[in-house]
Amino acid sequence: MERSVVSIFIKAGLATALSIIASLAVVAGMGIGISGASLWLPILCPLVIAFPASAFTYWQQQRLQVLNDQLRAAHAALEQANAMLAEKARRDAMTGFLNREAFFAAVEATRRRTNRGALLLVDADHFKRINDNYGHLVGDDALIEIAAAISRATGETSIVGRIGGEEFAVFLSGTDLGEAERAAERIRAEVEAIGFMPSQGRTLRLTVSIGGTMCWPDARISELMRQADRQLYRAKNAGRNRVMFETERRLAA
Ligand code: GH3
Ligand code: MG
Ligand code: MG
Repeated sequence: MERSVVSIFIKAGLATALSIIASLAVVAGMGIGISGASLWLPILCPLVIAFPASAFTYWQQQRLQVLNDQLRAAHAALEQANAMLAEKARRDAMTGFLNREAFFAAVEATRRRTNRGALLLVDADHFKRINDNYGHLVGDDALIEIAAAISRATGETSIVGRIGGEEFAVFLSGTDLGEAERAAERIRAEVEAIGFMPSQGRTLRLTVSIGGTMCWPDARISELMRQADRQLYRAKNAGRNRVMFETERRLAA
């Protein structure tokens, strides 16, 4: 027999035994001699009524417990699925980086803790040519490789996002200009070292241009983006595969 059924029987049996003892005590207390009907009635009544009633009650209790456990497990699974979906909605499916909205939200959140930091815009060079020469799928692979190189070159504390097609952004929280420039250079060099193979036996040099700016107190993210974008534009015009930093507003707190 199932353990739960045995437990119901034991509990109902105990409740019945207690009812019988109580009934016999009542009969004895009334000064009625315990024999014949006065003996069997206080035994039979609890047996017929208390046993099934308490067995039913314990069975219901057990069923409710099982349902409660199932509900709790379903709730936990739902919460986990919700958290996974929310996390998925923040990420770019191709690179696993934060998407544009999530990147800006994460930057704003970190800037509420400290205003020190730097923003880098990283844009793949002549990416259209890769698509034109080798096809979009090879282009996708190149983007994934570039994203992996950016990951390797940035630390755990950096916030990294894919904010456009072949454009990434990195926020280096708490960094100073020297560290930020070194981080940007690491990204540039790591991408250049990829050795991408668009087809068998052929290696293609991938490069990125990077524009950076330091944060200053109460700077709006749109202002930081504009500054970094200006530097990116300069890096492109200066021949690409290089880092340019905003030098006029080194006002990080
Ligand atoms: P520049 O050095 O001036 O940045 O040149 P570029 O060719 O990289 O810039 P442009 O803005 O002219 O072209 C960007 C290209 O990136 C065009 C677009 O098709 C490609 N691209 C954007 N997103 C993706 C993507 O997810 N996959 C692939 N394969 N290509 C993409
Ligand atoms: Mg580009
Ligand atoms: Mg671009």
